[in-house]
Amino acid sequence: MTENLHDNHAYVRENLARIEEQIQAACAAAGRRREEVTLMAVTKTVDAARINAALAAGVTHIGENRVQEFLEKRDALQLDGVQAHLIGHLQTNKVRRIVGEVDMIQSIDSERLAQAVSRAAAETERGHCDVLVEVNIGNEDSKSGVPVAELEPLLEKIANFPGLRVRGLMAIPPILHTEAEKRAVFEQMYKLFVDIRGKNVDNITMEILSMGMSMDYVEAIREGSTMVRIGSAIFGKREYH
Ligand SMILES: *Cc1c(COP(=O)(O)O)cnc(C)c1O
Repeated sequence: MTENLHDNHAYVRENLARIEEQIQAACAAAGRRREEVTLMAVTKTVDAARINAALAAGVTHIGENRVQEFLEKRDALQLDGVQAHLIGHLQTNKVRRIVGEVDMIQSIDSERLAQAVSRAAAETERGHCDVLVEVNIGNEDSKSGVPVAELEPLLEKIANFPGLRVRGLMAIPPILHTEAEKRAVFEQMYKLFVDIRGKNVDNITMEILSMGMSMDYVEAIREGSTMVRIGSAIFGKREYH
């Protein structure tokens, strides 16, 4: 498939415009302000030209799944003023390569990983690393993330790890079909978020609730998401090589 820059720009710009309308409508329907919701463009498998088209159209946050892929692509990206987050599963042996290179890691799902990020963060210039804890909201065996029942004990354990700044939660829900099912799961996630926020655990803040993807971001915003992670609705169907 050959695509020139103009096609990339027009295609991505139109998708972003449509998504922006939907985000605004969902915020209005939920009585929320538009500024409460951040749009993240998920760029896994997307080439640099197409990502740059999204950045030129005003995208301020990108999310990548794999350490290697991000490090290979980023020099070709116009990342001035843009936040890059790691959102995919992170293996402890890759932690040193990514801490200090991204603005946030959204996929903390074990004490061991939190420990490794804490240690690596201490060695960076910044001295800290912002993270979200990933919750396996459907308690599915196949998914990464912390089971709901283990979330609070984990947060209490990692809260005082030096350099680790827990800023909220991230969730990938099970595949859901009806609007009611989607909203019920997001509602459960929001309640968990508010509940933990209310406990004021020292050294952790609950500002970011990262949930909602191409197929369900409207429902996620209706239920309190503060960051939606959207890939295919912006860039088209992913092609894995
Ligand atoms: C791929 C991915 C997304 C985006 O998925 P789409 O359905 O393409 O919007 C969001 N979050 C994570 C963690 C992902 O891996």
